[in-house]
Amino acid sequence: MTPHRIMFWQIDYVWIFYVLAGLAAGIFLAGLAAHICVWKKRAGSREMSFSGDALKRTILDVFLGRRVLQGDMAAGLMHLFLFWGFLALFIGTALLAIHHYLISFLEGTSYLIFSMSMEVGGLMLLAGIIWAIVRRYIQRVPRLERRLEDALVPTWLLLAALSGFMLEGLRLAAQQPQWGAWSFVGWGLSGLFSSASAQALYPYLWWGHTVLSLSFIAVIPFTKLFHVLGAPAGIYFQGLSKPAIPGVAEGAGEFDLGDAIFFDGCMRCGRCVAACPSAGAGEPFAPRDFVQAMRRAVWQEHFPLGDIRFLSRGEESKVDENFWYCTTCRACLEVCPVYGAAFEVVTKKRVLAVEEGTQVPTLLNQTLEKVFKYDNPWESSRSKRGAWAEGLDLIDLSKRGAEADLCYFVGCTTSFDATAQVIARSFSEILRTAGVNFGILGKKEPCCGDIARRVGELGLFEEKMEGCCDLFDQYGITDVATSSPHCFHTFRNEYPEAPFKARHYTLVLRELMAQGKLQFKKKVEATVTYHDPCYLGRHNRIFDEPREIIRAIPGLRLVEMTHHRVDSLCCGGGGGRMWQDLDGEVKMSEVRVREAEATGAEILITACPLCLIMLEDARKAAGLKEPFRVMDLNELVLQTLDGADKKVEIRN
Ligand code: SF4
Ligand code: SF4
Repeated sequence: MTPHRIMFWQIDYVWIFYVLAGLAAGIFLAGLAAHICVWKKRAGSREMSFSGDALKRTILDVFLGRRVLQGDMAAGLMHLFLFWGFLALFIGTALLAIHHYLISFLEGTSYLIFSMSMEVGGLMLLAGIIWAIVRRYIQRVPRLERRLEDALVPTWLLLAALSGFMLEGLRLAAQQPQWGAWSFVGWGLSGLFSSASAQALYPYLWWGHTVLSLSFIAVIPFTKLFHVLGAPAGIYFQGLSKPAIPGVAEGAGEFDLGDAIFFDGCMRCGRCVAACPSAGAGEPFAPRDFVQAMRRAVWQEHFPLGDIRFLSRGEESKVDENFWYCTTCRACLEVCPVYGAAFEVVTKKRVLAVEEGTQVPTLLNQTLEKVFKYDNPWESSRSKRGAWAEGLDLIDLSKRGAEADLCYFVGCTTSFDATAQVIARSFSEILRTAGVNFGILGKKEPCCGDIARRVGELGLFEEKMEGCCDLFDQYGITDVATSSPHCFHTFRNEYPEAPFKARHYTLVLRELMAQGKLQFKKKVEATVTYHDPCYLGRHNRIFDEPREIIRAIPGLRLVEMTHHRVDSLCCGGGGGRMWQDLDGEVKMSEVRVREAEATGAEILITACPLCLIMLEDARKAAGLKEPFRVMDLNELVLQTLDGADKKVEIRN
């Protein structure tokens, strides 16, 4: 006999199946339509458009699991097993329907291949479900939640998969076909039943399996399972081009279509929580909870029945006021499978908070007032801005007739903070030694607006941006070197019409090295480790240049910390955190200095004034004494140069 399968074998009242299938499809489509309606309400200025690159990225990420495998191989493989298993069974069921209702093709060899493929798909699904349960409930992976929905979804799927195999076993036990061994799992199970008992049990289990499977499909849009559609849509949307200046526009604090899709595509995997330095320091903020709270808020605003996820309805928005904890370090985006940038959503919330004048911490409000009145977040005065340069005899580009090839933009923190001033003094001396014709803006130097941008005071940011552009234009400045990765990032990525080129000092030093203008002559015998500042590394991908400089200094041995480059930990000073007093179980900066010390390094090097201040304070607070030190990269470079001015002191 030709291998084949009889559809609806032993099943009476098949019309009930059609009713149930129609009901399940209807519920699924209604849920999908609700998502699309909510998304459309958030369409705003950004809409879905076609992009070949975005499509390619979506296909690679979804079908090959490129993103889920990254950084967590076990989780990625588990996810791929689930995904491919589910997909194989779904396609198999669709092929059976086509064979039954449209074209008969599943007979003979094609049926045997089909049977075996379904076995492999089913086994993959089963392995994925069991692995997921083990990770969540036996290994108890810390980033995974254990809510009702987290238990219900895999149990449901497990029962559907097991009942499917069992059903096959009953069918093969009753029919005993010659080709039964091709369905090797079902064939193995068929030995458990006599032909008569299998025939009697089969219809009951068939209905049970049918109800489980159809209801599982129906609830997809109403649970976190919706990520099977939301995540690909999110990955695709994040691959589309973004506005020139993210956020600075009418309605900048509003969530757009990309945000709404991201919220719905979030699978609550918790990778962002594991990467978040704020959550890691025991602070009352976690990006996943924040994203979910925002998802609920969007649904409550746009859907008459409120949150569509009925199993999460009772959850509190614990994070509603805690978005000030985010340092905007970008670590969450690096690991999120749907490329969700929680910190950009945080910034939008901050924009609204600032606009409404609510929930803004008092110290931060005072700081913004200083930026507005005195052009810096530190002092209620502009007069001390150039004080660090006393005795260095530098060109002041704001003076009549002054000219230079390069403008050194010192930045607010490096200008005013006693610890950070060493960066300005040593970098200036390095430039002088290398023969660079450079100048500073002295007391006229403005604030770039970074802090206003990070905390959502966009009006103030635009004012600072225009002020900087006008000033640079007035003095004919086209080439700028910054002390701070924050000024560099703001100039480079958030000034859409900047009439100048901005570089961080590490890029300038690397260039001078390449040109042979910096000769590292003196040996500095030390083991060092390097802390990647978030706005230099993760935000601008400058990982290699600082390391190349360190490696070029004779005598230095570079050892890496556990978290380095893209995985670097945040010092806790970015995103406006420097000007807030927030509580945590431990300080992020203390976690970082202890990790640095654990490498055996004597010097923790960084390349950012905020990192320098935070890490130096943490070193003192942690009681880490000599020989362990925190230094800016400029300080070390200066030590190795011949002809550097002795007046520029190196901190010990
Ligand atoms: S935001 Fe991204 S990383 Fe965080 S839980 Fe959601 S999907 Fe996972
Ligand atoms: S940007 Fe950093 S601090 Fe903010 S949510 Fe993401 S990981 Fe946490």
